[in-house]
Amino acid sequence: MKEKPHGIMFHYFHDDAAYKRGPGSLSAEDLERVIRYCQETYHLLSADEWLYKEKRGALDPRDVFLSFDDCIRSEYEIAYPVLQSYHLKALWFVYTSVFEGELEMLEVYRHFRWEMYGDMEAFYDDFFQTALCEQEALHLDIRDVMDRFDPAEHFRERSFYTDRDRMFRYMRDEILTEGRYNWLMDQLIRKKGYDIGANRRYLWITEQELKKIICTDGHIAGLHTHTHPTFTAGLSRERQEWEYGKNREVLERILGVSPACMAHPCNSYNADTLDILKGMGIETGFRATMGDGYTSRLEYARKDSTDVLNEMRGQKDLCL
Ligand SMILES: [Zn+2]
Repeated sequence: MKEKPHGIMFHYFHDDAAYKRGPGSLSAEDLERVIRYCQETYHLLSADEWLYKEKRGALDPRDVFLSFDDCIRSEYEIAYPVLQSYHLKALWFVYTSVFEGELEMLEVYRHFRWEMYGDMEAFYDDFFQTALCEQEALHLDIRDVMDRFDPAEHFRERSFYTDRDRMFRYMRDEILTEGRYNWLMDQLIRKKGYDIGANRRYLWITEQELKKIICTDGHIAGLHTHTHPTFTAGLSRERQEWEYGKNREVLERILGVSPACMAHPCNSYNADTLDILKGMGIETGFRATMGDGYTSRLEYARKDSTDVLNEMRGQKDLCL
């Protein structure tokens, strides 16, 4: 693939203590390795420098920066001290409903899975077994869905997903959809005795911490919708306007500034989204994949950090 300026995208970090490892999660040491690799192989810039060059049309194809999505608490607890020690400023793409006292169940469910099951295979065993047992209540033929599922047809750009990761996401997003999926997860949470209220503090960065990152330490905040829909392209124009308008309003309240950049949650957007963002004066936007053929300033590429780790392993293998 031709080189082009892009961001590196991070989500979850583990320390094997308060934050358990899960699919795609990195340790502080992994982050340091990614930083050193990007310094050696690309031109790793602080996010403010990258955006400054972008605005002037002066980006080099090898210019990269680091970005942290979804105001996840392990990003602050584990990754942030590493960034500070390297004097690197990042872009933080923030969804804001959690600063208004709400819970985003996608994140609650992810934490529940990682905390209450030793590994993802144990969770998948329980999830698929419970879905099969409850298929009458769900009004679905789960056995037939599972038998017909072809993992090669789904999430091709997410190289780190296992076949069962793919089946789980397919079942959640396309078969069960939100209402039935939430109902099924509630059955599992009750069965396992997981306390959502007590675990909230491990999920998201607080308002004070976000203020410190952006206002005190000079990192950059970007829009990422208010409630983080998984399929923004399927939402009405009005709903999309509300998602980004509310997102900006809450960030302005917390930070006192209005972000000029954004990232598309779950890489989902359509022509309406781009039009709304332009109307809001958003200058720079980012996808969640490398993709090809996207030339607009609202569709810059980002590479998942686990793909960078794979790239590093590939180079190592070549050297052996
Ligand atoms: Zn996100």
